[in-house]
Amino acid sequence: MAKLHFKYATMNSGKSLDLIRTVYNYEENGFKVLVIKPEIDTKGGEFVETRVGLSKKTNIILKSNDDVVSVLAGKLDNISSIFIDEAQFLTKQQIDDFYLVSKVIDIPIICYGLRNNFKMEAFEGSQRLLVIADEIEEIKTLCQCGEIARFVGRKYAGEFEYEGPEIIIDGASGYEYEPLCGKCYLEKVKRVNIKTYQKKLR
Ligand SMILES: [Zn+2]
Repeated sequence: MAKLHFKYATMNSGKSLDLIRTVYNYEENGFKVLVIKPEIDTKGGEFVETRVGLSKKTNIILKSNDDVVSVLAGKLDNISSIFIDEAQFLTKQQIDDFYLVSKVIDIPIICYGLRNNFKMEAFEGSQRLLVIADEIEEIKTLCQCGEIARFVGRKYAGEFEYEGPEIIIDGASGYEYEPLCGKCYLEKVKRVNIKTYQKKLR
């Protein structure tokens, strides 16, 4: 039985690079795959883009109201796997539909995405994936302090912010994202005075 996979990470962790590398491997060995991304990820247009310059054209761009089963109907002949980039932006229904496809057509589906947004909360798609994916794997990246970064802070004009819309696509003017470990997130984004709490707790 084919699996629905969720490979998650924070920003700047090389998720898209991992996707492109894996797709390249499949295609080199003669396997046909589908590459899908949500329309809301406008970065790169119809391409999956990476920071190191590699890109891969997608086969399908999914709108948030698209019915996955209708979109995939007739497109799965000889397809050995489906790869989805930025899967956090899919709806709960769409994740459920991909789960169904992995089981009824027996095609592995590999979703790449962020686990949480800049407020330390799950995206709709990632929340569902964390519950139903058959395999969950973390792609690790580092915080500037050297710890594993599992969160992301959003800066506007160089300052971390904790308010504003959930989705501002990476590269929007004035905005930047920084991968952070839990302690640095609390300190820099939530402005927790670490020393005060250390005194209180010890
Ligand atoms: Zn840190």
